[in-house]
Amino acid sequence: MTERPDLTHIDTWLFDLDETLYPAETQLMDLIRGRIVAFVMKITGLPQEQANAIQRGWFEEHGAALPGLLAEHKVTATEFLTFVHDVPLDRVPPDPDLRIAIQRLPGRRLIFTNGAEIHAKRVTEKIGIADLFEDVFHIETGNLVPKPHPGTYAHMVGHFNLAPAHTAFFEDSERNLEHAAALGMTTILVGPHAEQSKADFIHYRTARLTPFLMSARLKEPSL
Ligand SMILES: [Mg+2]
Repeated sequence: MTERPDLTHIDTWLFDLDETLYPAETQLMDLIRGRIVAFVMKITGLPQEQANAIQRGWFEEHGAALPGLLAEHKVTATEFLTFVHDVPLDRVPPDPDLRIAIQRLPGRRLIFTNGAEIHAKRVTEKIGIADLFEDVFHIETGNLVPKPHPGTYAHMVGHFNLAPAHTAFFEDSERNLEHAAALGMTTILVGPHAEQSKADFIHYRTARLTPFLMSARLKEPSL
C-alpha cells in the first residue's frame, strides 16, 4: 500500500466481529457452524446433510429460515444462541496491536455482528478490546435476521442513529458490504481474500486490519 487511506470524513467506526476483528486462520467459525448443525439435528431429527443446508442458508443465503424453524420446534432464540456459541476461545489470541489501532480512531466505535451478545462479549474480551466499543448490534437486536438482509441494516442504522456518510464499515464478507455501500457508508473488505475482490461497492481492501487502521488518515480533533 503506497497511498494512505483517507478516512478523514469518518466519525463512526462500525466493525463486523467474526473473522474481521480476529483472523480467519483461527477457524473459530468452523466450530460455531458445527454447533449450529448439531443443534438443528437435535431439534428436528434431520440427517446431517439437511441440517448442513439449513446452517448454510442461515449464514449465507436467505437469512431468515432458521427463526421459523426454531418457532416451529418451540425452541427459544436464547436456547439456540447459547448452544451454538458455546465454543472454546483458545484459538483467538489477545491482540494488543489491534487495541492500539482501534484506540486511535476518533468518534464512536460500534460492532455489527450476526453473532450473539454473549459471543461478542467473550470474543472482544479475549482479544482485549471489549472496553473500546460503545455498543454491539448483535443477532438478538436484529430479531435473529442476519446480515445481509437489507432490513437489518436499516434497523441497525436507526438503532445507533448513525450517519452513513460518516461511517466506515469493516467486514470480511464482501456480500455484507453491498447494502452498507448503497446506504452511503465507506466499505473496507478485510482478510486474505480481500485483494482479489472486484466488487465496485468495496472502497478499500486489506489483508490485515491493524496495519490498515494504523496507516489511515483520520479526522483531526476539533478545537
Ligand atoms: Mg465476519
